[in-house]
Order: sequence, then C-alpha cells, then structure tokens
Amino acid sequence: LVVPRASAASWNAAAPYQDPSLPVPTRVADLMSRMTLDEKLGQMTQAERGSVSNADVTTYRLGSVLSGGGSAPSPNTAASWADMYDGFQNAALATPLGIPILYGADAVHGHNNVVGATIFPHNIGLGATRDPALVERIGRAVAEEVSGTGVDWDFAPCLCVARNDRWGRTYESFGETPELPSSMATIVTGLQGATLNGPASVLATAKHYVGDGGTTGGVDQGDTQLSEADLRAIHLPPFRAAVEHGVGSVMISFSSWNGARLHGHQYLITTVLKGELSFSGFVVSDWNGIDQIDGAPGTSALDVRTAVNAGVDMVMVPTAWRQFIDLLRAEVQAGRVTTARVDDAVRRILTKKFELGLFEKPLTDRSYTSTVGSAAHRALAREAVAKSQVVLKNAGNVLPLARGGKIFVAGRSADDIGYQSGGWTISWQGSSGNITPGTTILQGIRNSAGSGTTVTYSRDGTGIDSSYRVAVAVVGEAPYAEGQGDRPGSLGLEAADLNTIANLRASGVPVVVVLVSGRPLDIASQLSGWNALVAAWLPGTEGQGVADVLFGTVQPAGKLPVTWMSSASQQPINSGDGKTPLFPYGFGLTYAKEDSSPPTAPGTPAASAVTSSSATLTWAASSDDVGVAGYDVVRVQGSTETAVATSATASATVTGLAAGTSYTFAVYARDAAGNRSPRSGTVSVTTGGGQAGGCTAAASVQSQWSTGYVIQVTVTNTGTTSLT
Ligand code: BGC
Repeated sequence: LVVPRASAASWNAAAPYQDPSLPVPTRVADLMSRMTLDEKLGQMTQAERGSVSNADVTTYRLGSVLSGGGSAPSPNTAASWADMYDGFQNAALATPLGIPILYGADAVHGHNNVVGATIFPHNIGLGATRDPALVERIGRAVAEEVSGTGVDWDFAPCLCVARNDRWGRTYESFGETPELPSSMATIVTGLQGATLNGPASVLATAKHYVGDGGTTGGVDQGDTQLSEADLRAIHLPPFRAAVEHGVGSVMISFSSWNGARLHGHQYLITTVLKGELSFSGFVVSDWNGIDQIDGAPGTSALDVRTAVNAGVDMVMVPTAWRQFIDLLRAEVQAGRVTTARVDDAVRRILTKKFELGLFEKPLTDRSYTSTVGSAAHRALAREAVAKSQVVLKNAGNVLPLARGGKIFVAGRSADDIGYQSGGWTISWQGSSGNITPGTTILQGIRNSAGSGTTVTYSRDGTGIDSSYRVAVAVVGEAPYAEGQGDRPGSLGLEAADLNTIANLRASGVPVVVVLVSGRPLDIASQLSGWNALVAAWLPGTEGQGVADVLFGTVQPAGKLPVTWMSSASQQPINSGDGKTPLFPYGFGLTYAKEDSSPPTAPGTPAASAVTSSSATLTWAASSDDVGVAGYDVVRVQGSTETAVATSATASATVTGLAAGTSYTFAVYARDAAGNRSPRSGTVSVTTGGGQAGGCTAAASVQSQWSTGYVIQVTVTNTGTTSLT
C-alpha cells in the first residue's frame, strides 16, 4: 500500500526541484522535502521489467526498473526497447512529483541484450589490448547504442580482478593484476561522457564490490579468504580508479570476505567505499543479493535492514519488490533503519538522476537509435578484436597466412556468432547460432583470403587432405555466464574440439589453433602438435578482426591479461606467485619478432617459460641519514603501497618480477622506532638474477613521486618466454 503524498497541493509547476538553473543539491533538497516515506522507499527499489507493469511504477513510485540478462521486449529491436522504456518512464512521470526512473541493463560488451547491437570483445580481450584509450572509445560507442534504446544505466564495467581461471566470470575481467583493470576504468569516462548530462551519457556501475574474482577455488558467489592488506592491494585498486573516473554507481558482490557476505558489509561499503574512497554515488545490490545475508531463502526483515544499514542504497529485488518495500517500511517505523539512512540513500540516487539530466530529458533520445549496430561502431569493434588477439605460438612462421592455394577451416566456433560472442549475448547464458547480425570468423577468413584462395570448411575437420596448405581449427568453449561457467574439474578442450584437431592433424597439414574461450585452457599436453596458437578470447560480432591478424593485415599486439597455466592443477596461478606457467602474464608474440627466431618443428616438447626475474635497487646514502635503522622498499600500485623488501644498507633486491611487466617502487628510510621518512636522490638499478633464457630487467628512474620527495623507480622486466 502506498500512503498518499501528504501535501499534493504544495506541488506546482515552478517547484525549485524542477528548475535546471538551480544547483543539484538545492534541487535534491527541495524534492526530498516534498516526499513521503513511501515515495522515498520507492526510490530505493529496483524491479525487473517482466515483474512490473507500467501502472505498478506509478502506484508504487518505483525508482528503477531493470532488464536482467536477456530480458527484452518483443520484438527485440532497438525501437521496441525505446518504446518499452518510454512506457515505463511516462508511468513514472505520471506520479505527483514526476520523478523519472533509472532504467538499468547489462550492456557488458556492447548493448548485448538487443538484437542488432554491436557486440564488442568481452573484457578479457580488451585487457589483452592494453589500450585504455581504445576502451574509453568503446565505452562511448556503447553509451550511444544504450542511449538509443532509452536505457540510462549500464551495469558495467566489471572491475573484478580474476585470480582463478576456474571462475565462470573470468572473461568479465580485464585481467589478473590490480593494475590492468584499474587502467581500464577509462571505460567509465566513455560510458558517462565528459559530464553526466552530456549527449548520450549513461550511468556506469563498477562491479562487483569487492573481491569477487578472488574466491577460494574460483567459485562464483564464493568466499574470498584474504587478509585485509591483500584484499586492499589486489581487489580494491580498480574501484579506487573507477571512483577517480567519477563512476556513478557501485554494485555489491554476491561473494563473501572471510565468511561475511559483502551485501551486509558495513565496513567495506560505508567505511571504505563511501568514506575512505569518497564515493559519492549510490550503491546497488546485485540480483536478490540481499537475500543471502541471513542464509535463508527469500527476502527477510534481517536481510533488508542489514543491507540498508550496511550502506546499500538501492536494492535489486527483481520480483519481490512489493515485499521489500513493506519490510523496509516496517524496519523504518520500528527505528531499526533510521530515516537519516533512508534520506542518505535517496539523496544519492536523486543526485544522479538530476546530474544525468533525467528531469529535463526523461524520454529516449531517438537520434541515437540508428547508432545501434552502426558501421562506425562495428569498425571500432573490429579494431578492438584485432588488437586483442594474442599469438602464443608460431612455429615455422605459419602465420601470417599467405593468400593463394587452399586453406581448410574447421571447428564448432568457426562459423557461429553465438559461440564467438560468449555469455551475456542476447540471452544470459549466450547460445549457439546466428543470434544477432555479425561476421563469423570463417566469413572473416573468406573475406581476407580473397578470391584467389580456396577456403573449405567442415565443422569437425573431416574432408581435409594433404592438398591444403594450412588448416585453421577454431575451437574453445561453448557460451556460459556466472556460476554456470565455473569449471572445478578439467580446464581442457572438450572431446569434440580435440577430435576436430585430430582430424586436421591426420592430414599432415600444418595446424593453426584459434582458441575462442573466456579464459586460458589447459592445453599444454597438446601444444606440441599445433604449429600455431592464437588466443582470440570472446571477440563478439566482428570476427573479421580475428582474420585481420591471421592474415597479417594487422600485426598481432595483444598481451596476455592473465597467466596461462601449464596444467589445471596450478590454479590459481598468477604473475609473481613463483609458479611456472605455460605462458607468463604479458606474453604475446609479434610476427616480426618470431621471424628472426629459428623455426620450431611440430612435435617438439611443450614450451618452457621463463617466468620471473629480480632486480637490485641501489641508492646513495645521504648525509641526512642520521638515525636511520634501515630502508623499506614498497611497491606502489595506485595509492596502495605493499612492502616488498627491507634492507639495512642502501640496497635491496626485489624478486618475482614477471616478464613483460612494469613495477613501480618507492624507497623510504626507517628509524629505530619504525617511523618512515621520505628519501630524496636517485636510485640505480642493477638488472640481474634473470633466469637462463634471456630474462632481464631494465629500469628507468622516473620523476620523483607525487609527494615530491620519495624516490620512485619503475622497473620493467623486458624478458619474454623462451621456447625450448
Ligand atoms: C549479475 C550482475 C548483473 C545482474 C543484473 C546478476 O546475476 O551478477 O552482474 O548486473 O545480475 O542482470
């Protein structure tokens, strides 16, 4: 039951909150002074489109509606999305105060619930590009397509730091180090635009806060068992970066930290995120996420009050939204949730609605509808696909493919838009087939090969003979999303894919394997039989970008965003952990580089990778070093510092430097009481400790640190894998 607004007559067309010339805080305060408790509770409620009617939005004063994965109007076109959105929005505008809704959707690699949208590579591929500016441009393109359907809020980016490839959401991660996802927080600026009320601006969501990628065993929605220092060092930096990029909302993780559910975690949500990180946007819960707080199914009073008191501002209660409103009202009336907490939540939500310009432009800007799947956006996606390809092996320089003669293409991922797009494409779990327009990898190969080349395809590799120059096997993983993609057992290729490759190999023709997968696969025992290996990740609709690299139209430039295991038993395996991977984090061949290496014949043993090195930092002792007991070397990651070495002398060795990776260190002097004081001067770095195989470290002393007096040095381990 909605209690009618107490003073309907106080509203008039000239109310201050409706005046766009007034500052947002003034408008928010004016609007809130006119709101009843139930109007405030409605703002805190998010229902799923399939469980709510337009009339419900009006009656219950709902603040937000979402499309869950794959939830779309029929027909599923950009135009009918816009019509659906405008229907809900007009229902919200019909309330006495006319507060617009925020409509949210998971546009996590393009506007992926909409047939015809441009589907970009999943984040793991974008991480391989190492190109934050490209990712920002993608954010802008996605925002335009999303705006063209009315949707004003994107549940992206996922800034998880994926630490275990068994996790079914690994592909939603930009990479395994804190630095890589942090650098890709530029996508927030792309999505939100220069200002939130600019053209085609969409509210972004940093998710899932915090530690979702660090669960034990890589179990989705599991428990992240880490010290606070490690949680902060590994999983917090991308959220700090997102806040620095002005992200408007943060979604809470389904996971727990040392047994405590994040959805009820007041310390991490209120103290750390809103306090320490100064996040001024609003916090949204994940899909029924508050229900897990009390461990019992369904939404309980305990779930509601714990989540809201912890700092959750808007609750995603897809179907149980009436119950949520009733429970929260009772908690407020009983004093177990304060009106101050409710007001804080509503203030945060309304602030974003005003900043987005929703009160002035509530309905779909249809001038953007034609950008959905536009040629310009598809060209951008193709560019991203090409930049995301990581060439891992290229024996005998079988790549780039030459034109002319006969090429054989096989594999269940070769001619399948659904497979190459992965989960979160048209449906939540993704699916096989021509689910949305695009170019398959096979079509891309045909285009690139040109008319002078015969390209033959069979799904399972049968029909090949020795008259072909090369065979390309496009294999990998069938689509999945979230926990349904967890792989606690094998991380290897499925029998059908192994069979396809075996059929190709039986011909004696050189075999190029293109892996279409959401993560590294356990392929070490097969690799020796493959002439070349390319990690294509989940490229999306523009399969032409894969062919661009196979044919050398674009030079391969992708670098591994995650460490590639030697065997599944190594999971979790991450850079710097001392384990020996098949290919280290940051690895990726270029054609030019491989040209100068002796060709490796098929049938040689699996690659052995040089993985780590050390560097010795030496600094000049200074005349003001009176009372110095020793020195601390810390690794600087964003504004987080992690101790890596201590030394009594003016020299220290840091170990575990992964190949192809840069590290920033700072040096402090420490007195007997443990107090640190900054050091000035320069640091010299001795490379060395490199393993046999050519792994070396080089260093350059950068400008002094932002504080102006701490020595900062960047060490880049330029080593790469040596194939033996
Ligand atoms: C996922 C979120 C997503 C939400 C809404 C949840 O199952 O964990 O990432 O944003 O659904 O679709």
